[in-house]
Amino acid sequence: MNLSPCECGNSQSNFHPNLEFSTCLACKVKAEKDLEHFRIWGQQKLSTLIKKSQNVPGRSYDVLLPIRGDGEDYFTLRYLLEENLSVLVLFVNNYFYNDIGWHNIHNLITEFDVDSITFNPRFETYRDLVADSLNRSHDIYVPYKCLHFLYAHRIAFERKIPLIIWGQCQPLEYDGKFSPYDTLKFSRWWFHQHEHNSGALGLDIVESPSSLIDREIYRYPCNVNPHWFVGGYFLSNFMIWDQFKNTNEAFNYGMVSDYHPNSCNPAENCGSDVYYDMHAALRHLKKIQPKSNVQKSQAYRFGHEILHETYESYNLKPFFTKFLGSTESGYDWFVDRHLPELKSKLISGRREPNIGSFQKNPSSHFLKYYKGI
Ligand SMILES: [Zn+2]
Repeated sequence: MNLSPCECGNSQSNFHPNLEFSTCLACKVKAEKDLEHFRIWGQQKLSTLIKKSQNVPGRSYDVLLPIRGDGEDYFTLRYLLEENLSVLVLFVNNYFYNDIGWHNIHNLITEFDVDSITFNPRFETYRDLVADSLNRSHDIYVPYKCLHFLYAHRIAFERKIPLIIWGQCQPLEYDGKFSPYDTLKFSRWWFHQHEHNSGALGLDIVESPSSLIDREIYRYPCNVNPHWFVGGYFLSNFMIWDQFKNTNEAFNYGMVSDYHPNSCNPAENCGSDVYYDMHAALRHLKKIQPKSNVQKSQAYRFGHEILHETYESYNLKPFFTKFLGSTESGYDWFVDRHLPELKSKLISGRREPNIGSFQKNPSSHFLKYYKGI
């Protein structure tokens, strides 16, 4: 089979790896979204959802916004506030943050002066689930995704918040997995089908050997589905979504970035001790193209010039020794067994910042809790 790269540089679809294309699906989505017809459709759809939410009597807020603390959150929160919506921000601690990540989260909340909830799941259970997910699915993000998406529904139901909004729908914007005219509603079905790179959720929380005392918070609250709930949606579904531009505006609000050579967008997933290291290495293991590739293709679509070159390098040991609590020999075993081809790309210690005063090296890693400002 001759796969011809699209002019954006995309040579592979994560969701249709055998698809032959001259124009990739993400570029087709971009072209459709550029049309006036889509702009009107998106505005009307979003406006309808907002009106529905604001018509719910007794609601505590119009919108719940689950955040990670990177540039996308700054854009999404600003947008929602400019629509005159009352917003509750939900931050779930995934225990992967460094001091820069904590700064960005606290800075977001204070800069926009919004109400917020911080949830710290029981660490021992969470760590067990991450280890279990790594063993079963070569994925460390499944437990966090359960919280970022499913726990958000629990909070929305408990607090009577009719609408949940996330920022970018990555399968749509990076891969063109759906039509831009699909109204992508987050659901239990969505979670199992689309929030795992292999296409189906590999971790069954119910069967997990981890402590069961707080397993409920990782599951979709299926016993409670209030009639007033409008749903969970992605903002990018309803508008042209220039991720590079949207995320980088956060630097105007005091966001800071660390430097990752595996990324060409300093405002995306910054402040994390695992995203461009352990998570990126596992993408490699699962033969999913590097995030920097999809970032570059997306930046090309929107006419952005990438200012610095990326190169593969991974600092994996801290995840094993500081987060999982394994020995160095445990780390060596995992690398020998699962990631031997990355050995020449493993690094340790600090990296040098690349460009701009908004980038700096983190001084503390895997901070469970931290006063970020
Ligand atoms: Zn393309």
